[in-house]
Amino acid sequence: MSITGKTAVVTGSNSGIGLGIAWELAKGGANVVLNSYTDSEDDHALAAEISKETGTTARYIQADLSKGAAARSLIEKAGQVDILVNNAGIQHVAPIDEFPAEKWDMIIAIMLSSVFHTTAAALPLMRKAGWGRVINISSAHGLTASPYKSAYVSAKHGVVGMTKVVALETAREPITANAICPGYVLTPLVEAQIPDTAKKYDMSEEEVTQKVILERQPSKEFATTEQLGGVAQFLCSDAAAQITGTTISVDGGWTAL
Ligand code: NAD
Repeated sequence: MSITGKTAVVTGSNSGIGLGIAWELAKGGANVVLNSYTDSEDDHALAAEISKETGTTARYIQADLSKGAAARSLIEKAGQVDILVNNAGIQHVAPIDEFPAEKWDMIIAIMLSSVFHTTAAALPLMRKAGWGRVINISSAHGLTASPYKSAYVSAKHGVVGMTKVVALETAREPITANAICPGYVLTPLVEAQIPDTAKKYDMSEEEVTQKVILERQPSKEFATTEQLGGVAQFLCSDAAAQITGTTISVDGGWTAL
């Protein structure tokens, strides 16, 4: 089954990994829905550029995924969802006893609760269409932990659990649910945490990149957004029809350590 003409909703896709996945799915023929909370001219321009370059239909739909009702309304506004990529995410780095409670709530809402809401709204549409793919962007931090990232690590482990439940509830249907677990990918989210991490470890930003961030990644290379888009495409292919309820690491060997 090709993804030509399928509708893919990619949450948090005006930047980084989400945008990379949206591009690769559109190149494969899917009509993509871009999303973020911002609703800027640039967001709409990105959708127009994808449409122009790929000949598919790309739309931008604003939704603040920290709110459950908005997450569900994103799916309603999309109309059809054959491929759901739950990708939106933020980060905050602080020791547990200094971690602001409102940051904890926000991270859990955007990165875990929104996955519940979008999936709950999308599954009936997939069932009606007789085909579906749920692709959750977890992390190497969905399988392992690092200090100072309590909310992020908890949300990403939660996403892996949620993925397994979706897979079991859809196991007898032509729907699969899997989590992609990237190691470090050089996107705005990672660039933004370098200064805080440098402070925590009392290192320069360059030292943090080499010794802390890529220290965990045995390949010593960042994964790319194109590679993640390629893995998402593979999960939509017939070859992946029996792959469900699992995690695919794209982490340069991080979780092999
Ligand atoms: P990014 O900052 O480039 O993108 C994050 C996206 O989430 C943006 O499009 C942003 O608009 C969106 N977003 C944030 N808050 C939102 C909200 N309230 N409502 C709607 N959208 C919202 O970051 P990225 O690195 O591309 O991260 C994408 C996903 O990949 C995240 O879930 C992240 O945890 C995960 N991830 C990233 C890495 C990495 O190294 N970059 C590694 C593993 C996992």
